[in-house]
Amino acid sequence: MVHCPNCSLKDLGKIGSSQYYCWRCCIEIVLQGEHLSVFEVEEDGSLSSLDDLFSAEERRIVTEENPQLIQKASGR
Ligand SMILES: [Zn+2]
Repeated sequence: MVHCPNCSLKDLGKIGSSQYYCWRCCIEIVLQGEHLSVFEVEEDGSLSSLDDLFSAEERRIVTEENPQLIQKASGR
């Protein structure tokens, strides 16, 4: 599940096939393979990368404590 690397919010708005938006931080989160890229949306609508603010570990996509359990739950 995609989370916000800034506030750890998991209730992200989906704005594209691999793009999410954190309404709490007003940042855009883009899936890049196994990592997230984080962008701040400027007032003019352009995006500026915030990747520098987060470590690679923080930007790694977290699959909860036990991903197998989640897969079973979502298959119900
Ligand atoms: Zn956030």
